[in-house]
Amino acid sequence: MGLSAVGIGETVVDRFLRYVRYDTQSAEDSKTYPSTEKQKELGRLLVEELKKLGLKDASIDQYGYVTATLEANTKRTVPVIALIAHMDTSPEISGKDVRPHIHKNYSGGDMVLPGDTTQVIRMSETPELAKKIGNDIITSDGTTLLGADDKAGIAEIMDAIQYLVNHPEFEHGTTKVAFTPDEEVGTGVKYFDVKKFGAQYAYTLDGETIGEVESENFCADTVRVTFRGVLFHPGYAKGKLVNSIKIASAYVDKLPKDMMSPETTEKMEGYIHPNSVQGGVESTTVKFIARDFQVEGLKKKEEFLKTLAEETVRAYPRSSFAFEVEESYRNMKYVLDKYPEVVEKAMEAVRLAELQPRPHSIRGGTDGARLCYMGLPTPNIATGGHNFHSKLEWISVQDMKKAVEVILNLIKVWTKS
Ligand SMILES: [Zn+2]
Repeated sequence: MGLSAVGIGETVVDRFLRYVRYDTQSAEDSKTYPSTEKQKELGRLLVEELKKLGLKDASIDQYGYVTATLEANTKRTVPVIALIAHMDTSPEISGKDVRPHIHKNYSGGDMVLPGDTTQVIRMSETPELAKKIGNDIITSDGTTLLGADDKAGIAEIMDAIQYLVNHPEFEHGTTKVAFTPDEEVGTGVKYFDVKKFGAQYAYTLDGETIGEVESENFCADTVRVTFRGVLFHPGYAKGKLVNSIKIASAYVDKLPKDMMSPETTEKMEGYIHPNSVQGGVESTTVKFIARDFQVEGLKKKEEFLKTLAEETVRAYPRSSFAFEVEESYRNMKYVLDKYPEVVEKAMEAVRLAELQPRPHSIRGGTDGARLCYMGLPTPNIATGGHNFHSKLEWISVQDMKKAVEVILNLIKVWTKS
């Protein structure tokens, strides 16, 4: 008998269906924090629900951070473990008026979404879906995203807490909960007070395929290469004008065509990616994002960009360039390697749920990665959600229950060691 028969009261699905109805879309380039005020509405609901579950200190602060503590019920010495999920949804696709649909007992084949029949989740393009025959699959109606990213994580954490509250015989240490805003715009933990929060280790529930444990992510920098030309009245410019737009174009054209770009790399390969060009005749800035799993690899790519800039300006006498590198985030592995038990226990929790644990690397950053460098080691575990940031987002009810089981196992593993 596993732990999948979850608790008295609501199911994880009831919670999930309620949370996705809250529009919590975050916004790029907002002047406020959180980036959208509406995220706090879900935050306030969660505070109320946590209080109802008996977590008396549940609160939301000015930044929208929801935090709460489930007090220990054991005499053992157990580190304080935290469970974290984000409340916002992607700015890319609307999360307003989400109408979730449950496709009961999925029998295989393509899933046509009822609100927009051009939106089809094709089994042939979705290998994970092919493994879910017989499951109940939740999607949106095809006109919005679903919001499993990351309301599945929130629902699973809440369900696990409900289970612990309803089962006082289940021994556990002090367990902290945090729900954060603005993960999708990269600032989810900007004002998060790790020290005040008081957890020793944490797990974000923000991954995809069930069984995956993510303890590695990209190292990321932003690189700005600014080319300077010489401005002159074009009517009298012969032999004098140097056009920085042309230098920047020549530079971009020199970039490798068959490697080191997002469109030519996968798995553990990094890249350099020009994502903005701005300027005029006198000065033009090419902005890049640089990514690699290793700091050394990242530095090599940046050296490459610099050398290429030197070569480029050589063909344009009297031109010059400035080269700036700004650190965005680093691979959490560098931190997590110092606390191997944090990832090992997650693997063990997955195993206890009768799943095959699968280490997975994130080709991006996570709030967990930032938390690692803020003093809180935080790998990421799976929620069961798929096709994030799209109208084709889906999640299996059975996988959500498995994710809850993994969380409870994790608590158990930490308590028993
Ligand atoms: Zn997410």
